[in-house]
Amino acid sequence: MDRKKIDRDGTDAPSRNGNPPGGAADPEGPANRESSPSATVTRFAPSPTGHLHVGNLRTALMNFLIARKAGGTFILRFDDTDPERSKPEFIDSIRADLEWLGLIWDREERQSLRLDRYSSAKETLIAEERLYEAFETPTELDLKRKKQLNMGHPPVYDRAALKLTEDEKDALRTERGGHWRFKLDRARVEWTDGIVGDVSIDAASVSDPVLIRGDGQVLYTLASVVDDIEMGVTHVVRGSDHVTNTATQIQIIRALGGEAPRFAHHSLLTGAGGEALSKRLGGLSLRDLRDGGAEPAAILSLMARLGTSEPVELRPGLDELAAEFDVGKFGTAPVKFDEADLEPLTARLLRSLDAEDVAADLSAAGVPGDIASGFWDAVRDNIGTRADIAEWWNILSDPVPAVEESDQEFVRTALDMLPDPPWTGNSWDDWTAELKSKTGRKGKNLFRPLRLALTGRERGPEMAKWLPLMLGKPKL
Ligand code: GLU
Repeated sequence: MDRKKIDRDGTDAPSRNGNPPGGAADPEGPANRESSPSATVTRFAPSPTGHLHVGNLRTALMNFLIARKAGGTFILRFDDTDPERSKPEFIDSIRADLEWLGLIWDREERQSLRLDRYSSAKETLIAEERLYEAFETPTELDLKRKKQLNMGHPPVYDRAALKLTEDEKDALRTERGGHWRFKLDRARVEWTDGIVGDVSIDAASVSDPVLIRGDGQVLYTLASVVDDIEMGVTHVVRGSDHVTNTATQIQIIRALGGEAPRFAHHSLLTGAGGEALSKRLGGLSLRDLRDGGAEPAAILSLMARLGTSEPVELRPGLDELAAEFDVGKFGTAPVKFDEADLEPLTARLLRSLDAEDVAADLSAAGVPGDIASGFWDAVRDNIGTRADIAEWWNILSDPVPAVEESDQEFVRTALDMLPDPPWTGNSWDDWTAELKSKTGRKGKNLFRPLRLALTGRERGPEMAKWLPLMLGKPKL
């Protein structure tokens, strides 16, 4: 992969300090951790504010596969410090969707149960003079930003709060309450990103992040860092919308005495037409894909390769995906997700299954146990999704013949010549051979009207397998 040096300070200027590549946040740590792979800890950290969708599923899968490949630990961590937007039903639905996909976590955490940990981190940062109380209202901040922009300055918070006296702070605290900002060290932060390559961000171009809101709510930037340190997270894979956060988080990690994990920021998914995924999330939740018949292995196989230069290949199990997984193979360009790509993968997966693997679907469709295996053998190549099993069973158990006017007579003759059931594996060939010699019809002329008469469909299972499954001759 082309690991070009990128600069993320918002100016797109080349890196100014000219450090060689590899100036990672923690050059020693990750290398040491690599040598004992079982120490690998990853986490998927969704905010339970909606259902799982293809965008965050990709993040989940990458983190899962890194842990699985290394024999490490995969944590499911709910970032639920926002009590208004976090909903228990989304916790349940995210869990259920991950389970459906087989992305089973080794440990579950909830930020809302760890507020004491964040309070203690707050005290540490205050003691180190890295956290300060500020009192500007959103309107005041907005005004400041506008003024700075008008004067051609970057809209970075001016740290006016640092100049307040204790008396002024007391007065403001009573009047409006304060929030807490992390005092960034105004230096470049550098790390080697597992996907993006060498990143260098000038922290002087970033506002001191608010870590605790006026109402006391701990924000993600702090909570996430405290958790990553305390849970021993070694690898963080997340969307490229978090790159700037990473610079500030690396500074907070260090201020708390922690070791920065390895970061990898994957590009964001767009819809098939290149549109922002957020506009289409309605149709791209895991639930929608599942309701549309997509198979877990199809979704996972697509997601494990989408955005790499390698072809998508169907892998029935997560172990196969894990064995081949390398986060460095992902590119930085936005990736188009087209759910239509799931259809051939799903069909291929279903085709590869044995009757026992789909026993529950066969029985739910009403297929009697004694013919389940023969039925599956006949229809498996014509199945797009599991829902098609019931459809073919309906056709078999209650055929609705479709016979064109010009074929009426031929079909009537044909059905007269067809011996009574039971039919065997040879019945179709015997019957059509006899018809051919009697009527002179051959090829499509011979077979198409018969298929339409027996199934009502232009296309479908091999008729030599289908006929023996039929209960009787169709009624014209
Ligand atoms: N809750 C954050 C999100 O969903 C997690 C980001 C991270 O992985 O650090 O964007």
